[in-house]
Amino acid sequence: MPENKVKKYFRLIEAWAWCDICDDMIALRINKEEIIDGLKMGIYMKEYKHSNQSPDVEDPDDVSGNEHTIYVYINDNYDITGVKAFFGESPTTEEIGAQTIQEGGEVRIPIVVKEIPPMAVQFGMLNKDQFKVLKICDGMNTIEQVASIAQMSVKDIEKMMEQLRKKGLVKVIKRT
Ligand SMILES: [Zn+2]
Repeated sequence: MPENKVKKYFRLIEAWAWCDICDDMIALRINKEEIIDGLKMGIYMKEYKHSNQSPDVEDPDDVSGNEHTIYVYINDNYDITGVKAFFGESPTTEEIGAQTIQEGGEVRIPIVVKEIPPMAVQFGMLNKDQFKVLKICDGMNTIEQVASIAQMSVKDIEKMMEQLRKKGLVKVIKRT
């Protein structure tokens, strides 16, 4: 899989995110202001609907000509930390777990149980990392993907999930 790329300018970034449905790079221009606003809420994710303009007509399995969506996660350094491609309104469990099935054949998906206000950080209920990670726990990322998007180790995320679970803020759903 080719690496995602970003060119950073004064007011905007140009991003090339890998869409594994198109099997191609998708070019996006995003205002930095939009990213900064998003990051105030912990994490920024660009949602981009598109369809492949030149699908492989010889290949009956190539469905990339149909409209689909990518989620592109971008960090405070304007780098891409994760991309997810899917058809429909949200990724299915199969799409979520496809690349990250554990050795035991189990996929762990953390989901936020309670809506968490940004003030939770100011009030010391959560630290900034916890707040950020909770934003990624939207039911569409496995533990491994959350770690990768947040740029933390799986071990640290597991530890954090245990703390947050005790606070009643997340539950971790297991699927085989
Ligand atoms: Zn695509």
